[in-house]
Amino acid sequence: MADFPYADRFTVNRRLPDQGRPREDILAELRMMATEEDAAWETGKCSGTMYCGDHEHYAYLNEAFGMFSHVNSLQRDLCPSATKFEGEILAMALDLFHADAVTDGNPVGLLTTGGTGSILHAMLAYREYGTKHRGITRPNVIKPESAHPAFAKSCHLLGIELRIAPVDPETTLVDLEWVANNIDDQTVALIGSASNYGWGTIDPIAELGQLALQHGCGLHVDGCLGGFILPFGEALGYDIKPFDFRVPGVTSISADTHKYGYALKGTSTLLFRDKAYRNAQYFFQSDWSGGKYHSPGIEGSRSGGMLAATWAAMVSLGREGYLKYAKAIFETADVMKAAVASHPELRMLGKPTYLFSFTSDDFDIYHINDFMRKRGWRFNGQQYPNAIHMAVTRPQTQPGVAAQFTTDLADAVVYANERRDTPAKSSGIYGGVEGGFTDEAEEFINAMMGSMLDTQMSLPPEHVG
Ligand SMILES: *Cc1c(COP(=O)(O)O)cnc(C)c1O
Repeated sequence: MADFPYADRFTVNRRLPDQGRPREDILAELRMMATEEDAAWETGKCSGTMYCGDHEHYAYLNEAFGMFSHVNSLQRDLCPSATKFEGEILAMALDLFHADAVTDGNPVGLLTTGGTGSILHAMLAYREYGTKHRGITRPNVIKPESAHPAFAKSCHLLGIELRIAPVDPETTLVDLEWVANNIDDQTVALIGSASNYGWGTIDPIAELGQLALQHGCGLHVDGCLGGFILPFGEALGYDIKPFDFRVPGVTSISADTHKYGYALKGTSTLLFRDKAYRNAQYFFQSDWSGGKYHSPGIEGSRSGGMLAATWAAMVSLGREGYLKYAKAIFETADVMKAAVASHPELRMLGKPTYLFSFTSDDFDIYHINDFMRKRGWRFNGQQYPNAIHMAVTRPQTQPGVAAQFTTDLADAVVYANERRDTPAKSSGIYGGVEGGFTDEAEEFINAMMGSMLDTQMSLPPEHVG
């Protein structure tokens, strides 16, 4: 459940205050919360989520954001800058994913508000393309079990049937035979991850591409997480097979600028091999009394600040900057993975890259999580099998962090060995909120979401100002 550490310290607003408060007070209150919350990950002991972790970089992006934060990028006549930013972000991303290698299409892109947004727009594009060009009436897509829940959410929203392909428990990669046997004439797209969120492993994209070509359907590569780091890992000589437009059959790629693109939270790129896919999802209404309406994607108004800040992140780092950060991240991940491999009680899942996940066949792996948590580490818990996941980001590349991981992990293994026959305290939930649930526990979800969204209404009266 969500925490409310501020209820006792700051005024709880249950209604719009009658009079406004002085800005200095408000900013001081915000600064206090931000500073305390940043301290939790600045140590480098937090998996994922803070990809850059560099306050100078953030300050620079905030300056860029601030110049355009009030601008609605839908009103292009007032902000031709948005056209420059958005077009260049997409051009740079297309270049990174080797759109130049495409001979069977006109590569284009779409900027969205996050990974989920990119996946939702991709699924919408495949559904609409299928309707328009293939006469499909009951669309389905096939995703590896390991692919992100955003695919299930998108299919739920868009009325697409989702077929879930099993993964090989040893390699963690999608079962190609299952995929091949479950494609039919209503399949609009296959899905592969580069990499998946859970284990950091990369599905056999070339093989999926061949299947897509044989059956005349699309192949979406989910590079939300890996998109802005794997190309640099490849350039550094790590064993990363091509997953981008160089691979025949890959028809779209999602890659989050707000993860390893080191932009602010709130943007992601979606790239298509051919503009027929993207164009299929445009919405426009020409007969509204409010005027002729059109928007590039599902969102209406978007802040021009997000475009400016994302653009500013990319052009300030350049290839050299991304490569330098990737090198430090891959090297840190190598040290941490070696620490895991040094314990026979621990088992790495698949062959991971910049992020890894491990389990144990000897004890409840969450004992490791319980112990590491006491040492200030925050990992993400997983299930089937129970495992803990560490996405290496720039905060871990600070001196001493990987060495601390090695020491703390060794102590955690001793702790877990002493508790072989007992269950652990923590469990697997995405996003670090405490508690556990099964699919049936709608009640639990309602309570948990309520604890995040409705708290100010339900706090006791003594907290209310
Ligand atoms: C983060 C992530 C997503 C979803 O992205 P959001 O930005 O959280 O909406 C999708 N796929 C993968 C592999 C991810 O890591």
